[in-house]
Amino acid sequence: MVIRKKTIGFKGGFNLLDAYPLDFCNIIEDICSDGTPETFQFCMPDQKIEHVVVNLCPTEPWALPNWVILKHKITEFLTMLKAIKTSYFPEAKVSVAVNEKEARTVADAMNFAGKEDWICVYPLSAKYPQDDPVLLTKVILRMDINFGQATESSGVLILDAQTVSAIYESCVLGKNVASRFITLSGTGLKENEILNIQLGTSIEKILENKVREAIKSRVFVNGPLRGQEITGLSQKIDWSVNHIVVLEENDRKVLFPMVKADELKLTTNVLGELRRCVYCNFCDDICPVDLEPALYYHSYMRGEKHKARLYNLGKCIECGLCSFICPSKLELLEIIRECKAPDRQK
Ligand code: SF4
Ligand code: SF4
Repeated sequence: MVIRKKTIGFKGGFNLLDAYPLDFCNIIEDICSDGTPETFQFCMPDQKIEHVVVNLCPTEPWALPNWVILKHKITEFLTMLKAIKTSYFPEAKVSVAVNEKEARTVADAMNFAGKEDWICVYPLSAKYPQDDPVLLTKVILRMDINFGQATESSGVLILDAQTVSAIYESCVLGKNVASRFITLSGTGLKENEILNIQLGTSIEKILENKVREAIKSRVFVNGPLRGQEITGLSQKIDWSVNHIVVLEENDRKVLFPMVKADELKLTTNVLGELRRCVYCNFCDDICPVDLEPALYYHSYMRGEKHKARLYNLGKCIECGLCSFICPSKLELLEIIRECKAPDRQK
């Protein structure tokens, strides 16, 4: 079955793939672990799974591109998916989200799905953060899940291409999966690369001889928007690491940044540009779930975190777009997390 569906559920967002296209070298380097090698283990969910959603529509330019896993052979991939569904989720419906701009993938997936009754294909816009679980389940399944809630508790299992491939290798074929592909990119590096990393390898080993010399840099695991900035490099690669971004640290000030939206750069100029809110409303417009981040900021600055929580703060999916777009480089996401914190401790 083939379904065409408009992107619904959010008005904001930002097409990072168009704004910051990244090129990766086609040659994939293998890196062996400097610690105890680990293996991929897939834990079958305890809950009954009614929907399996396979996301082939990453929305971050630094995320692992689909071609690394699919090798431009979507039919073989979907055949693999069918074997997994038959063995482990026989009653589940399978939905596959594909980037509507990848014409060949969309056409081949639709051709495959046209002959099967267990799978639906959804060509989606790759506007960030369309692939967030909250938005993906809303757009594809019309289900509301809360940010931070495990989708399995609602009977939904979300998988990416690499995890599908690993489940097939380990569970269906009984092979040992001990490595994964990740991307390494950013202004702090000599080049953008795709690596095949043994699980358990430290980030320190991965970055050896890859960071540009004589610069200060910041390292983000799973990206600068919704990933985590790390200071020590001892963290080991496990299955949750999809990409590492290294950005050169700058403190350059920009004059009148609010009138230079077309010159937005992905920088770490946080300290150099920190200034007051200029009421530009960029953050309100870009928010994918229709919140008003500036309102949270002003409540926070007045010492009224409790007031911020009156305005749907719990709906924030922590995508980081508001911090990214803010010309004053206000750390809006950090402020939002602080405003949420008392609820999290309950
Ligand atoms: S981090 Fe939250 S408030 Fe900011 S843009 Fe994303 S969803 Fe909206
Ligand atoms: S918080 Fe930043 S993006 Fe939002 S209105 Fe103020 S200056 Fe503009």
